[in-house]
Amino acid sequence: MTKDGRPAWHANPSEWHARQTYGGRPASDEFCVTGFLPSPTRPAFGLRELLMECATAPTAPLWNNSLGTGPVGYDSAFLGTAVPVRCVLHLAGALATAGRDAQLRLETLDPGRRAVIVHERRRFSLALVCAGLDELCRHPGCDFPAPHPQIVFCDEHLADCSTATLTKMARGWGLSQNPDDSLGRREGSPEAELIARAAGAAGACDSVIAVLVDTVFPQHTSQPGNEDWALCRARERERHRLTRIGQAEAQRIRRAAGQCATCGSALSVQVPAGFPPQFCSVSCVSPPRHAQSQVRETKQTVRA
Ligand SMILES: [Zn+2]
Ligand SMILES: [Zn+2]
Ligand SMILES: [Zn+2]
Repeated sequence: MTKDGRPAWHANPSEWHARQTYGGRPASDEFCVTGFLPSPTRPAFGLRELLMECATAPTAPLWNNSLGTGPVGYDSAFLGTAVPVRCVLHLAGALATAGRDAQLRLETLDPGRRAVIVHERRRFSLALVCAGLDELCRHPGCDFPAPHPQIVFCDEHLADCSTATLTKMARGWGLSQNPDDSLGRREGSPEAELIARAAGAAGACDSVIAVLVDTVFPQHTSQPGNEDWALCRARERERHRLTRIGQAEAQRIRRAAGQCATCGSALSVQVPAGFPPQFCSVSCVSPPRHAQSQVRETKQTVRA
């Protein structure tokens, strides 16, 4: 509800747009009424209850002005803002595998504009003005979208992922590619490049890229002949392309660091295999990268 007692969804969204750029500052800086609270302090609610509310609350177009009529929505007690019905239905669709018992939590709210809803580690951004839904990077508080349903971190946070996580994503992404696509169409994907760069940062180019190309170009030993040869050529071309990208990223990190992150000794130009490029040797890799990023994530959650 607004101060004069009218439902918040009577507010004009063009006012929100004007405010968004007012003073050159993003809306979340000065107009986020509720602010960024750590999600554990907000009560959890069930997808079932949210859908029930959506089905029973009185609805109306969320805005109406010279630009036209906004999406139909309602005032949600769970979200503390007016929300388009379509946003809630899209969210339910995205969480179909989690089921109606899925527990949700509001991570951030910018009333009338945007809400971020969390289910376990998955994060969804609801665009309240235009009824959009985006899945976000899984790093708490990150505003960048997840590049792909199987690549669940933005490029910055992909670089913090462990080799095991990257391997899982490489396989998941590979399996999501259409095996009936021509070989040419299966090469050169910018999404594969994201994984390759992160593998370079983790010092795991060879193993992660091997999983990726073996999943995208699976060998059919039962059908020898020309087709197999073409498949093999495509797989090796893509392996070399991605390895060059991953190695270049490792080299970039090594040059930028200059010295070992643990012992401070000067780093050689040669990119090491099997451990992250900002260290001089395996013995300096301590604590492991994934433990480091977990500590950082925990800190971020507490601070937020
Ligand atoms: Zn894709
Ligand atoms: Zn991120
Ligand atoms: Zn060292």
